Amino acid sequence: MEAFRAYLGTWPRLATKLMERLAEALEEGTFDHNNADELRLAYKEAQQVALERIEAGKTPYYGIVYPQVLWKCPNCQEETTGAYWEISNPVTKERGMFRVRLVHELLVHGESYYVEPIVNMSDTLMGQDEHHWDAKKLLKIIDGMPVPPEALQELQQLAAKQAEEKAAAAAGKGH
Ligand SMILES: [Zn+2]
Repeated sequence: MEAFRAYLGTWPRLATKLMERLAEALEEGTFDHNNADELRLAYKEAQQVALERIEAGKTPYYGIVYPQVLWKCPNCQEETTGAYWEISNPVTKERGMFRVRLVHELLVHGESYYVEPIVNMSDTLMGQDEHHWDAKKLLKIIDGMPVPPEALQELQQLAAKQAEEKAAAAAGKGH
């Protein structure tokens, strides 16, 4: 998923764009930050401008869900905030949530999935849980964006593979 990894790395975070715009407006002196009403209006304006800029940039964007949650990577010890990335298409408004660890594993370590141990109440290892990108969901979200062809191909191949696995699992259950 190297091409998709590179593409994902270019997506803006909505809050960052919003703060950029708010800083500009403060610089321009268009509002008084000590005035609650003006601040509220400036915030609203900044959000609108941020979304317009993202739309003009023709990329999906993300927001961090539950930013109070801290997750520490067991491999690199980096601390990441949030439980999920909510990925959105600025034009179609299609959106979906993806685990922060999945994003970290791909962006930082180049891994397209991760494995988590399943333990019971007394800490006995019961098995493993594999977490993968939901390629079908991602394709639906980014549909209509100018996606780099290699990245699109990677996601389409992954979606096809996941559909096959799902069909095989469903067939297996039938016996
Ligand atoms: Zn890490």
